[in-house]
This record gives sequence, C-alpha cells and structure tokens, in this order.
Amino acid sequence: MFDINNIIRNNIKNLVPYSSARDEFKGEASVFLDANENSFGSPLDTAYNRYPDPLQYKVKKRLSEIKGVPPRNIFLGNGSDEAIDILFRSFCNPGVDNVILVPPTYGMYEVSANINDIETRKVLLTEDYQLNLEAIAAAIDEHTKLIFICSPNNPTGNSMHREDVETLLANFSGLVIVDEAYINYSRQKSFIQELTEYANLVVLQTLSKAWGLAALRVGMAFASEEIIEVMNKVKPPYNVNEASQQLALQALNNVDTVNNWIRETLSERDKLVLQLKEFDFVVDIYPSDANFILVKTTGARDIYNFLVQHGIIVRDRSKVELCEGSLRITIGTPPENEQLINHLRNYK
Ligand SMILES: *Cc1c(COP(=O)(O)O)cnc(C)c1O
Repeated sequence: MFDINNIIRNNIKNLVPYSSARDEFKGEASVFLDANENSFGSPLDTAYNRYPDPLQYKVKKRLSEIKGVPPRNIFLGNGSDEAIDILFRSFCNPGVDNVILVPPTYGMYEVSANINDIETRKVLLTEDYQLNLEAIAAAIDEHTKLIFICSPNNPTGNSMHREDVETLLANFSGLVIVDEAYINYSRQKSFIQELTEYANLVVLQTLSKAWGLAALRVGMAFASEEIIEVMNKVKPPYNVNEASQQLALQALNNVDTVNNWIRETLSERDKLVLQLKEFDFVVDIYPSDANFILVKTTGARDIYNFLVQHGIIVRDRSKVELCEGSLRITIGTPPENEQLINHLRNYK
C-alpha cells in the first residue's frame, strides 16, 4: 500500500541534484585542483582546507556496526532537526499537504512545518500520554504525508505503546517518523529493527543526547534505501562538517564511556524521583524512559523562578496543554542533582 512515488514531491522527483567536485571524482590522487580549495592548508593545527565527504561514509560505516543497519539505510544531518526539515522539503507540498502531530511533543516538528508552509493537524495524546489512534485516523486525509511520533516522548518522558505505532505503520500510506532522540535511556527497543518490515518507517536518532555531542550537530535518520536516496538528494552537499565527522567517529569508538553515563543517569533518575516525591509541592512525577522527568507541581512558575534565583534552570512546561503545572527537569550529575534537591528543601 505504501509507494514512495505517491508521496514524493514532483519537483524533488525531477530534481537534478548538485554535483560537487567530490561527487565527480572520488578516487585517490595526489594533486586536487578541482574544488577551488586553498591548496596550502589551514591556519590551524588540523588541515580543514578540503571539503568533507558529502555522504559521511566513515561515520556511517561505524554507525552501521553499532546499529546493525547497512550504511545505505543511514542519512546524516546537521542535527536530527535537519533531517526533520528535509522530510518536509522532500515529501510535503507547501500550501497543499498536511502532517499529523501528537502534542504535547517536541516543538521542532511544528516549527519546521510552519517554515515549509505545511498544515499541521494536531491530535492530542490521551490523558496517559499515549496515541489516540481513532482521532489520528479521523484526522488523516489524502494530503496527509507524515506522522511524527516521539518515543520516548519529549516533554512527557514516556514511550508510546509499540503496538499503536505498528498499527500506524501498517495502515498509513505516508511516512511514520519515530523520533528516538532518547532511545538510549529507554527500556523499549528501537524501531530500527522494524525497517525491513515497514517501507514507510523513518527512525530519527541523534548524537546530541546520550552521546554527549550536542555541539557537533550530528543527527541520524534510518530508513529504506529509496527514502534515504531522496533525502540525500535534497540535503545541502556538505551538511556535516569535517570537524564534526572526525570527532563523531572518535566518539563512536568510545561506547563504554557512553554506556556508563547512561547507567549513572538512570540510577540518578530513580534517586531524584524518590527525593522529589517527598516534597508537598510535587503533585505527580510521570514515568520516564528518558534523561529527564516531567514533574507536576502546585506552582510551576513560582518554583521555576525560585530555582533561577539559585542559578538552576529547568524547563517550564506549565503552559503546554496536558502538562499544566509541570516542570521538565533534566537529570544532571550527582552533585547537580543534590544541589537541586537542597535548594528545593528551602522552597517555601
Ligand atoms: C533534542 C531533540 C532532538 C534534537 O536533535 P538534534 O540532533 O540536536 O537536532 C530531536 N528530537 C527530539 C525529540 C529531541 O528532544
């Protein structure tokens, strides 16, 4: 039922992509006079005078070993936010098509839709922050191209029921995008394993969260080869810079450090939940599969301001529908979490 030809924009189908010097000659040579680079070098310790690999092959090869997905099923972007934007630009006709969002969720889907002039159809999550499948089905029409599911969800922290996501994948004739920015912290397994099952699945992940590389801006999309090919055609030629590619590769060889941090983050999360529950201004703490918790309080803005006065910044989500009264708190290092708790002991 899913056919990429039914959803790809016509101008993209017909697009002749930019062909860079590095696309046209990929072999080994000793003298490169084809890209108008500075042949003398860079005024730095590392030579950055050559354009980077447009398809980031070394990074993808390492990722492919870690994720168990062939490099041809991987897209790399300047953050996963770039992948989100490229999905809109590849598949959604401005002023014509629409996408389904399921708030409360990550804000960039809507911003990216608005930038691209794509209608957003919002179907609220249920009271327990799960997908409302009936309402989603009712919101879909022949111009619906994408459904964005964030799991574990930002800002609520929970994972979506797997069967619900699979129901969408099996029945929707557009793309289902599963944003797994927080998957490393989750008890649920990634949807990457389902790529062979569903031709309309796109899984987003990032090096910005558990991998500790937010400043490098490296995000990933995993999908069928035909979807990845379209995304590669639309992306800017050198969208992941050489410094980021080199450093990402180094980091990907340091899995043990990252896994230790994940373990520590989870144990700190459990500890923080127990401590926060003791405060009478804490109404509820939602179950989290991520490196943050959503905490419902009796006075979110007031607590937020109190913490700011003590140099601690959390995220006030109290104006977000279904998150009334809630603060989103990222799990910090043990001393940071201790500071948070100690200050909250003096609140009121
Ligand atoms: C943080 C976050 C991202 C951003 O990823 P980048 O790779 O840094 O652009 C994407 N999705 C969700 C749900 C996030 O919370």
